[in-house]
Amino acid sequence: MSIYPPEPFRIKVVESIRLPSSEEREAALKEAGYNLFSMKAEDIFIDLLTDSGTGAMSQEQWAAIMRGDESYAGARSFHRLKNAVDDIFGFKYFVPTHQGRAAENILAACLVKPGNLVPSNMHFDTTDANIRARGGRPANLVIDEAFDPDNRHPFKGNMDIAKLKAFIEKVGVLNIPFGMMTVTNNAGGGQPVSMENLKAVAEVYAASGIPFFIDAARYAENCFFIKEREPGYEHKSVKEIAQEMFALADGMTMSAKKDAIVNIGGLLCLNDEGLFQNIKNELILREGFPTYGGLAGRDLDAMAVGLYEGLDEAYLAYRLGQTAYLAARINDAGIPTIQPAGGHGVYVNAGALLPHIHNYEFPAQALAVELYREGGIRGVEIGSVMFACLDPETNKWHYPKLELLRLAIPRRTYTQSHIDYVANSLAQIKARADKIRGYKFTYAPELLRHFTARFEPL
Ligand SMILES: *Cc1c(COP(=O)(O)O)cnc(C)c1O
Repeated sequence: MSIYPPEPFRIKVVESIRLPSSEEREAALKEAGYNLFSMKAEDIFIDLLTDSGTGAMSQEQWAAIMRGDESYAGARSFHRLKNAVDDIFGFKYFVPTHQGRAAENILAACLVKPGNLVPSNMHFDTTDANIRARGGRPANLVIDEAFDPDNRHPFKGNMDIAKLKAFIEKVGVLNIPFGMMTVTNNAGGGQPVSMENLKAVAEVYAASGIPFFIDAARYAENCFFIKEREPGYEHKSVKEIAQEMFALADGMTMSAKKDAIVNIGGLLCLNDEGLFQNIKNELILREGFPTYGGLAGRDLDAMAVGLYEGLDEAYLAYRLGQTAYLAARINDAGIPTIQPAGGHGVYVNAGALLPHIHNYEFPAQALAVELYREGGIRGVEIGSVMFACLDPETNKWHYPKLELLRLAIPRRTYTQSHIDYVANSLAQIKARADKIRGYKFTYAPELLRHFTARFEPL
C-alpha cells in the first residue's frame, strides 16, 4: 500500500468546486468539440491541466503582497526579491520577468543567431519555440532510458554525455551560443537530473567555452530527488544542493509559476556583465524597467517568499509523496504510468490502456475525454494530437512513441480525497476500456493544434 503524506499545512481559505451532473458534463464536452482546452474552468471539478501558476499561495505570501512597493524604480520589493535570489542561486546579476518564456525570449534575443544550435537534455516547448523564433535550432540529447516508460532509472532526465560531446564536435563550438539543462525534465515526464550528470555537462560546456544556462523551473523538486536518490547528498539540505547546482552554471531562466509557488513571475540570472547590459536593454524594450521586469511590486514580494517555501523540505517530501501516491494508486488499479513517478505529475500510458485505438484515432485524447466524462477531471493529452506531424516530403504521418495523458498536480491545492477520487475514476474507466472509441478531427489548425482543435467521436 502506498502512503499518503499528511499535508504540512491546514486550510484557512477555501474555493468551492462543483461536479456538474453527467448530463451537464456530456453537454459541456459536446460544446467544447471534445477538446478540454476549450472548456470553461467552472465546468471542471478537479483541474490537473497544469501545475503552472495554479498552486495555492501561503498566508506569508498574501501578507507579503500587502507590503508590495509599487515604485517604478528601485522598489523595496525588488530588493527583497534580490536578497532571496542572491542567497539561493548565487549569480552576479538578475532581472525579474513576467514568466519563464519572457526570460527565454530575452536570452534568445541576445544570444541566438540564425543557424545556431542550442543543446539541452530536453527543451521545454516555449524554450524550443524561442530558440526557433530567432532562427536557431534546439537539440535534445537526453539519455535513451528517458524514452522507455518502464525503465526505473533514478535520473531519467540526465544528458547523454557521449551524445553531447559528439554533437559539439559535429556542429562546432562557434555555432553553439549557449547550452542548457532542464531540471526537472518537464517534456520528459518531470524526471530529475543527477548532480553527477550536471557536473559532467558543466565540464563539457566549460571545456568548449560554451556558456551553461539551467532551465530551473522545478529546481527544488530536482534537488529533493538528488537528496533522496544520489549517494553523498542524503545529509545535505536542499538549499545546499541547489547552491551546489547553480555554482556549476553561468546563468539560468526560471518560470516562478512552478517552484516559486506564485501565480505569475519569472527570473533570468547570469554572471556575464556585458551580456547583462544587453539583457537589461532588451528587458526595458519588452518587459519593463530592470527592477520590476513586467511584474507588479507585490508579485516580486510573493516570489521572494515563495522561493523559500518551495525549498522547504517538509513541503517537498509531501509534494513528491503526493505525486508518487497518485501514480501508485493508478498502478494498483492495473493502469500503467511512466516509471518512476515524476515530480509534478503522473503520465498515464493511454496507448497501453486503450490498445484497440490506433494512434491516428488519438487514444490519449479519448482517455482525456473519458476522464472528464467519468469524474469531471481535466488532464492533458500528450500524444498524437499534440505531436503527430505530416512529413511534407513523403506526405506520411509521423507519430510520437508514446500516447500519454498527463495529470499535473497544482501545488498545495488538492487533498488526499481528491487524489483518491482521480485514481478511482481511472479504475472505473479501465473496467469499460474495451468499449471506448477514438476520435477524429473536425477542425485542426496547422500549428499548436491541441489548443484549438475540435473533434468528433468515432
Ligand atoms: C513552464 C516552463 C517554462 C515556461 O515558463 P512560463 O512561465 O510558462 O512561461 C519553461 N521551462 C520549463 C521546464 C517549464 O516547465
